[in-house]
Amino acid sequence: MPAPSLRPGSGGFPPSSKMAAAVSVTGPITWAPPPMRSRELERRLSLPGPRPEAATALVNPSLSDHGNGLGRGARGSGGSGGSLVAGRGGGAAAAAVALALAPALSAMQRGSSERELAARWEAEAVAVTKAQPAAEQVRVDSGAAGEPERKTPEEQPKDPAPAQPRAAEEGDARVVPRPPPTLPPAKPQAARARGLCPHGKPRSKGRGGRRSSGRAADEYHSQRPVTVDSSKARTSLDALKISIRQLKWKEFPFGRRLPCDIYWHGVSFHDNDIFSGQVNKFPGMTEMVRKITLSRAVRIMQNLFPEEYNFYPRSWILPDEFQLFVAQVRMVKDGDPSWKPTFIVKPDGGCQGDGIYLIKDPSDIRLAGTLQSRPAVVQEYICKPLLIDKLKFDIRLYVLLKSLDPLEIYIAKDGLSRFCTEPYQEPNPKNLHHIFMHLTNYSLNIHSGNFVHSDSTSTGSKRTFSSILCRLSSKGVDIKKVWSDIISLVIKTVIALTPELKVFYQSDIPAGRPGPTCFQILGFDILLMKNLKPILLEVNANPSMRIEHEQELSPGVFENVPSLVDEEVKVAVIRDTLRLMDPLKKKRENHFPDIYTDRKHRFPPVSDRMPSSQLPVVRSQQLTKPLAAKEDPSDSEPASASDGNTDPEAHLPSICLKQVFPKYAKQFNYLRLVDRMANLFIRFLGIKGTMKLGPTGFRTFIRNCKLSSSSLSMAAVDILYIDITRRWNSMTLDQRDSGMCLQAFVEAFFYLAQRKFKTLPLHEQVASLIDLCEYHLSLLDEKRLVCGRSGPAGGRPLDSGSPPDATPSAPPVEGHPPSCTNSAPKAAHSRHTLS
Ligand code: ADP
Repeated sequence: MPAPSLRPGSGGFPPSSKMAAAVSVTGPITWAPPPMRSRELERRLSLPGPRPEAATALVNPSLSDHGNGLGRGARGSGGSGGSLVAGRGGGAAAAAVALALAPALSAMQRGSSERELAARWEAEAVAVTKAQPAAEQVRVDSGAAGEPERKTPEEQPKDPAPAQPRAAEEGDARVVPRPPPTLPPAKPQAARARGLCPHGKPRSKGRGGRRSSGRAADEYHSQRPVTVDSSKARTSLDALKISIRQLKWKEFPFGRRLPCDIYWHGVSFHDNDIFSGQVNKFPGMTEMVRKITLSRAVRIMQNLFPEEYNFYPRSWILPDEFQLFVAQVRMVKDGDPSWKPTFIVKPDGGCQGDGIYLIKDPSDIRLAGTLQSRPAVVQEYICKPLLIDKLKFDIRLYVLLKSLDPLEIYIAKDGLSRFCTEPYQEPNPKNLHHIFMHLTNYSLNIHSGNFVHSDSTSTGSKRTFSSILCRLSSKGVDIKKVWSDIISLVIKTVIALTPELKVFYQSDIPAGRPGPTCFQILGFDILLMKNLKPILLEVNANPSMRIEHEQELSPGVFENVPSLVDEEVKVAVIRDTLRLMDPLKKKRENHFPDIYTDRKHRFPPVSDRMPSSQLPVVRSQQLTKPLAAKEDPSDSEPASASDGNTDPEAHLPSICLKQVFPKYAKQFNYLRLVDRMANLFIRFLGIKGTMKLGPTGFRTFIRNCKLSSSSLSMAAVDILYIDITRRWNSMTLDQRDSGMCLQAFVEAFFYLAQRKFKTLPLHEQVASLIDLCEYHLSLLDEKRLVCGRSGPAGGRPLDSGSPPDATPSAPPVEGHPPSCTNSAPKAAHSRHTLS
């Protein structure tokens, strides 16, 4: 079929028909070059690579049809969903995942003696701080860097509470201006004077001294409460307060002069300058989950693994890809005039349904004015959602990203289902603008006269997800399969997001500099199709953690009243996130080993503590997966308080967050190709704090990985760099630094992989090239090790981003394994944990 010409002069990428086939829907989107690229570049490069293919406009045959028919051109009727994880070992992933549901227990009553206890701990904290200058003072120095020493108490109740701006959540605050990376003021002199090494760690003071102070510190840390700075918690404050009380931890609502263990931010990593402890936001997450960025990240994965990533609706980025969108829709329509698709237009960075509208034809897009100023994503509309009581609903699931490297993901066992308030009909020109029928946003439907507030978690316009599963289960639905598919979706989405997050992380918290470790609760919005296939709608970096809702007392007069369903789900998520992040848990475990061992079977099973309406679901899952608890330490039941021990978690229910990664790593690790590319990218970034690769870094990458050859000269490499970099910089809003962003690097990498391994499918081409690069880099690392041993101490890295000509090494011989026997480090450079 002759494909429409998508762009004048397009076709430089992808350069082979194979690649074109693999990237069809998204390929032209990702790789669609501007007029300046392509044939002309090919000529300039004078590369013998394959020619561009006009067929790039074909709809990707591997992406499933989401009930809209867009895939029919290539796939037939579609819409049946099917297994999410198909092919290449993916089936195992779906089969292996099964979870027990355990809805959160209602909020725990507050203990009476907490405050006295906390005051005592606080006094002891000061005493221990004085006694432990090395370990503690470094935190003080970093935290209060630049401030004059004050004699005020650590907690500063006299300071006015920080202003609480309007709820900044559910994407509200996605456009957070990102200040340049903040580095703590260097105080080498002071650090040295106190015996601190440059990393802020205490210098060794000799064996005896270290031992005794270490014992005292262990003693103190095993007994003091964890401290939480909640001064920036904003709308999550209420749920956070309840959680801290339940845990008997110590809250600092106005911040604290001494560093806290945990900082709870309402919006972004950059809410404060923090140099120690743990903060509940990752740098760059807000940017990563914006609609356009998320679409781009998922699209890269769809190019590599179309079957595995068919849970995300086909999307086009506006205005850049408007012509492509028009051309692709026209092509399918030409093939099938009866096809009547619907699309949904969503402004980038929008939230709460703001600015969203449905269209039946690309010509309906409101191009004039708004799109230029506010880019958007236009997406295939899922027109056959699963209905309950004739209403469309979506699922909000809470996902904890506990650590980036190593990757650790947890999913809350219960979430929320938000219902539309007008009975659903498939879209037609008459109902397209009925927002209460098509958009499930709570913030919109609350204004409908049909919105039902309910004190029950299984009725009304907002319910627990477990109540939905319970209902489906009673109708014979295989809810284990539904959960398994949802878990696959979550893991794959996080895998798509992590490569760029790592780039943000190393930019904001460069290796070797003091900084906090990070974790983050994400809100996944998921739609179930009629055939029960889960579809990802979006990811929220700041999911609402409000536990109250507005109630209209009289027309126009609203009051905030507690929302039981919100409290049940959200308090459990926050509390158990804190439990998982508890920095003192290890110390407590060491100090009270009896309490933390053999605690299973001492607490009544979850099912005995649950509302009877939810029992069937839970019981069936407990029966079907009795060993799950053993696989995951987080399933351990806390010991009973009646044991007479001092386990601070004895009174708490089991943790509601279930580890899914690395638990299921084996099934999903093959998808992490872009992650490995990001490791290469970061290695060659050179200057700390940057997020873009300079031309020298790119050249060094090519040389060190031995990718240049007689058919790819370094001049051609330079042209490749300039071309791709210029195009990406014109497409992305982020103009902070010049150079090649990760996505541009990925494009260049795909191109090189395709040239080198022509006959393989795209993902195998890419995997082969990554293997090759990692191999050559490991040889270099090994050589560096040898040079370091024999040469001058502190020899410069061979791939430090400096001009390669200056490197002291002789080139390793390709294909010959290194002679040294010690295992060479992998390509990823050594850094501190990205958690
Ligand atoms: P926002 O961030 O503004 O809430 P979403 O992407 O979550 O934007 O979309 C808002 C609502 O629109 C969703 O809750 C869902 O009900 C509906 N929606 C979004 N995308 C689709 C889609 N592709 N198909 C069907 N419904 C959708």
